[in-house]
Amino acid sequence: MGVRRFFALGLAAGLLFVLPSNAGRHDTQAPGWFRYALGDFMVTALQDGSIDLPASAYQGLRADKIEALTKRAFALSANGVPTSVNAYLIDTGAHHILVDAGNADCYGWKLGGLTANLKAAGYEPKDIDIVVLTHLHGDHVCGLAAGGNRLFPKATVWAAAEEAAYWLDEKNKATPPKARAALALYGKDFRTFKPSDAIAPGMTIVPAHGHTPGHTAFLFESKGAALLVFGDIVHNHFVQFAHPEVSVMSDANRAEAIATRQTIFAKAAADNTAVAGGHLPFPGIGRLIKDGDGYVFAPVEFAPKP
Ligand SMILES: [Zn+2]
Repeated sequence: MGVRRFFALGLAAGLLFVLPSNAGRHDTQAPGWFRYALGDFMVTALQDGSIDLPASAYQGLRADKIEALTKRAFALSANGVPTSVNAYLIDTGAHHILVDAGNADCYGWKLGGLTANLKAAGYEPKDIDIVVLTHLHGDHVCGLAAGGNRLFPKATVWAAAEEAAYWLDEKNKATPPKARAALALYGKDFRTFKPSDAIAPGMTIVPAHGHTPGHTAFLFESKGAALLVFGDIVHNHFVQFAHPEVSVMSDANRAEAIATRQTIFAKAAADNTAVAGGHLPFPGIGRLIKDGDGYVFAPVEFAPKP
């Protein structure tokens, strides 16, 4: 065999070897739920889906710096920064409290994995008796509806009074029609709270205004353990933990959102309180470590037992 023919055959064999062959390759993912024990409470993180947000959605640092921080983490695809949409179910023993309800099909983003993941985690929508909403953006509200009906037939749905006053005011009409329609399905079972209200034992309302006028976090406490479910305090974890002064385009009041983020980060780090975020990488639960002027996020690890 001539040298040239030898190489030609070798090349052909090599090509055969590297030709993609996906037949039989597993490409399904584990269901998007994650269990986290909190004293006597059991928390189940639920993923609704993931969207790509453009790096240009962030303001407060030079655009090239934001892009560099994101690229450094290999997290900038052609479509933007992958951003999870999370909800949290807290089983307190007395109540099944769902924090946020996912996007369903609002904003043109096809998410809506919440129901399937809830069921995969062992629950049915009828098990939920309380839904608390961090705010009334569609990606937290639209999942209250399924096929034009209430997804949670037995739930009372709560949002901050300021939030409802702003978003449901006819003259604003800022929240997507689908989100308004989803809320309307709950009629008198949609109620508003003020910070001093006690909706359920073990849950405290923590005003966290700025992202929206009535944006709210919820602190869950049991047997000395605490978890602050803080909604949309962070959208880009690569950037905003290190630089809490960076805001996202959808922050209604940038200065207030930045001040709230700084306050919540400082307190959670000082108290060693775990946090859970609506757009942190799933399951979105972890702790904050002070690092210079910013913070480092220490995410929870998967373990066979929560
Ligand atoms: Zn959101």
